Amino acid sequence: MTTILPMRAEAQHPLDLVGVGIGPFNLSLAALLDAARTVRARFFDKKSAFAWHPGLLFPDSILQTSFLKDLVTPVQPTSPHSFLAYLVEKKRFYDFMAGRFDGVSRVEFNDYMAWVAARLPSLTWGQGVAAARLRGTALELELDGGDTVLCRNLVIGTGMRPVVPDWAAAQLGSVCFMAGNYLTEKPSVAGKRVVVVGGGQTGAEITLDLMKRSDGPAGISWISLLPRFSPLEEGGFVDQVFTPDYVQGYRTLPQAGQSQEVASQKLASDGLTPQTVDAIYSEIYRQRHLCGGAGKTVRLLPGREVFDVRQQNEGSTVLTRAKVNGVVEAFSADVVILATGSKPCLPDFMSELRGRLDLDDTGLPKLDENYKMAWDGPPSIGLYGMNLGLKSHGIADPQMSLMAWRSATIANAVAGEEMFDLSSSGGLVEWPVSPQPAETKSAVSA
Ligand SMILES: Cc1cc2nc3c(=O)[nH]c(=O)nc-3n(C[C@H](O)[C@H](O)[C@H](O)COP(=O)(O)OP(=O)(O)OC[C@H]3O[C@@H](n4cnc5c(N)ncnc54)[C@H](O)[C@@H]3O)c2cc1C
Repeated sequence: MTTILPMRAEAQHPLDLVGVGIGPFNLSLAALLDAARTVRARFFDKKSAFAWHPGLLFPDSILQTSFLKDLVTPVQPTSPHSFLAYLVEKKRFYDFMAGRFDGVSRVEFNDYMAWVAARLPSLTWGQGVAAARLRGTALELELDGGDTVLCRNLVIGTGMRPVVPDWAAAQLGSVCFMAGNYLTEKPSVAGKRVVVVGGGQTGAEITLDLMKRSDGPAGISWISLLPRFSPLEEGGFVDQVFTPDYVQGYRTLPQAGQSQEVASQKLASDGLTPQTVDAIYSEIYRQRHLCGGAGKTVRLLPGREVFDVRQQNEGSTVLTRAKVNGVVEAFSADVVILATGSKPCLPDFMSELRGRLDLDDTGLPKLDENYKMAWDGPPSIGLYGMNLGLKSHGIADPQMSLMAWRSATIANAVAGEEMFDLSSSGGLVEWPVSPQPAETKSAVSA
């Protein structure tokens, strides 16, 4: 077990590792390090307890990843912090298996992760990190209350930042609401005209919820930039992309090739789950044809970009432009829900160190194969980024598929030894790999 020193001691003796943010990604690292004797680690989160996107935790939502790709199993199947260990301890194993579920509910997976979080002494809740600065050969982190902690390695796991379109910014909280707060903020929708902007899984789940609510809106318009409401690409060959072997090949590609890969795989990660698509379709069919004319009006509006929301005497008007022909349309709305996605970002507490990092053209730190940032600070300090590597590590980075493998990669790098065996026997698919400088000659002559 990780030894926890009182905070005063950590202000003088640097910890080996501090993780900031305890979402699934840093929770996975904390779970893997729980049994480590050589790495003294501590993790902080500003929330008071573990909660996985609580504003979107619908009772019927299904995990898009296998439960075997939990916090630990892919790299440490004997860990006491696995999903199977959770089922066994909850005396639910046989009921779960007999259910033959297509997937685990997100509610249950959240409960599993909260169960792991409650078992880890290295986690500190209700403590945000406000600033990071150099203190000699260590890094000093200032917590929200003013306490400080020293460390040699920092792992940023603060998640993505929701995208607020420019046209919505001035009306946030009045007409426009962020999808991520849908269940916690509970905007009043009863009897109103609601526009959902965003054709991804979040927009789909909110549209379905609005349709099914007994206190639901009078009408729903679901607008998507994408040309159609497309389901997730699934299957064995698609899943081969969510493997360490793929990531290793991806890292050898030139930048243009990497961008092409990520763009072509969009539906493997951002498509709609077939269950949600089927449920929306059935509900629309029911409302339109089987409710004796009393069903809700649901408009499906793909291929349109919203460019403004204007206040009118009664409610607002959402203006869109069609991608294929530029036609402008107006849709009446009392409430606009923004399911407009999130993007990776460096947290504000890194502002003092930002100028010392080697950033890419999107302003994100460049990451090496161990998720370590390139910077000009003392080499004794390691800065690692989770959920910052869509560009550098490919499509699996914002996802849970490889979270245990990534945590183990970081743990090995911080420990300077092979705590976890991450060697591979090669994947089933031979992805294009760019020859590295030293290999070029033999690859050509082979
Ligand atoms: C609704 C939803 C469903 C998803 N479902 C799936 C799925 O089924 N399968 C899949 O593979 N992926 C899924 N994802 C994608 C991804 O797995 C999740 O977004 C995941 O939560 C990312 O984990 P994270 O640890 O990077 O960030 P987060 O879960 O966002 O956690 C970040 C944490 O950092 C804390 N924090 C932020 N700033 C500070 C600070 N300064 N100091 C201290 N703490 C701070 C926050 O309080 C938060 O707890 C889903 C995403 C969403 C939004």
